[in-house]
Amino acid sequence: QGYYTRGGGIGESGDFITSPEISQVFGELIGIWYVSEWIAMGRPKAFQLVELGPGRGTLTDDILRVFNQLSSLLSKCDVSVHLVEVSPKLSETQALMLTGGKVQSNPEDKSAYMKGVSKTGIPIFWYRDIQDVPPGYSFYLAQEFFDALPIHKFQRTEKGWREVLVDIDPEVPDQLRFVLSPSSTPATENFIQPEETRDHVEVCPEAGVIIQRLACRIEKDGGAALVADYGHDGTKTDTFRGFRNHKLHDVLTAPGTADLTADVDFSYLRKMTQGRTATLGPIKQREFLKNMGIDLRLQVLLQNSSDTATQEQLLHSYDMLMNPKKMGDCFNFFALLPHHRLVRPDTKHKPESKSPLPPVAGFGELLLK
Ligand code: SAH
Repeated sequence: QGYYTRGGGIGESGDFITSPEISQVFGELIGIWYVSEWIAMGRPKAFQLVELGPGRGTLTDDILRVFNQLSSLLSKCDVSVHLVEVSPKLSETQALMLTGGKVQSNPEDKSAYMKGVSKTGIPIFWYRDIQDVPPGYSFYLAQEFFDALPIHKFQRTEKGWREVLVDIDPEVPDQLRFVLSPSSTPATENFIQPEETRDHVEVCPEAGVIIQRLACRIEKDGGAALVADYGHDGTKTDTFRGFRNHKLHDVLTAPGTADLTADVDFSYLRKMTQGRTATLGPIKQREFLKNMGIDLRLQVLLQNSSDTATQEQLLHSYDMLMNPKKMGDCFNFFALLPHHRLVRPDTKHKPESKSPLPPVAGFGELLLK
């Protein structure tokens, strides 16, 4: 019955716009990131691309186009796509975008509720939960996914931590209001870190559980995860807000009709990996995209387009993604990688064979060859 199960309003005609919907370059550079990590990890024979909350499917579509363009590199690799999506309506949109609508659905199937083949011949599977995705070497992607998951809110008071709860306003009909719990709750007992210094905190336990699962899977089967979202590194307090028709919307008015969102706390995600993987970031979107070579890609697209309207559109979308006052500064990239990807095992006995580890693209300068 919720906002996303009824379709969600992603895109210019909806409630909010996301980076992959702004420019194809965003997804292309993320596609390059996966290919770059696949090479750095010794070109495993197969990998699964697992996207959490794929929205309209645009990002996966852009990534698969890159995989297809680099087919000379990937031709011997067995690639499959696994989409984790709860919204029946959005999964239909994704199927149309990625397969042209040719899918087999099996709602009774305990694992994949839908299957299809991409326009470029890659098998695609849909699931409701990350736990249903088969184990195996996987590259995970979560773009504006974690901010959509529900949070708990807490307020520090003279009597200790109290949970912010939603109540029916007794004075105004059809109106909800926020109240403070009169005493501590199971959530205040379990979700506040003992070393917490802020007075108001938002915690998303569901994000913590999912990150834990990703970290376990990467530790066991290999791969990497890339998380892109707006957020902070454990510094912000009250960020819960709603969007409707691209305007701020009171979160308690007309529930289920607006996009509800809270900034992602990357320090919490890092903690929830429990040291099973290494983490990189968060770094700002504009730094990540710059390191990935967005300027060069923009130049190529500008040179290849003959009409000024397309060129203006390219420049406008570049500005949306990169301008610090638009999406450049508030969006961040964060990665989970196996420890061995960043720390070379002890090479004491053969120091002369020590070659430097290849840098992780995006988080340092990309060496374009
Ligand atoms: N990544 C897309 C869409 C972001 S919106 C983009 O950047 O454009 C959030 C997405 O997560 C939607 O596809 C929504 O249906 C999905 N979603 C929300 N809650 C979910 C949950 N608990 N499990 C799986 N998917 C979920």
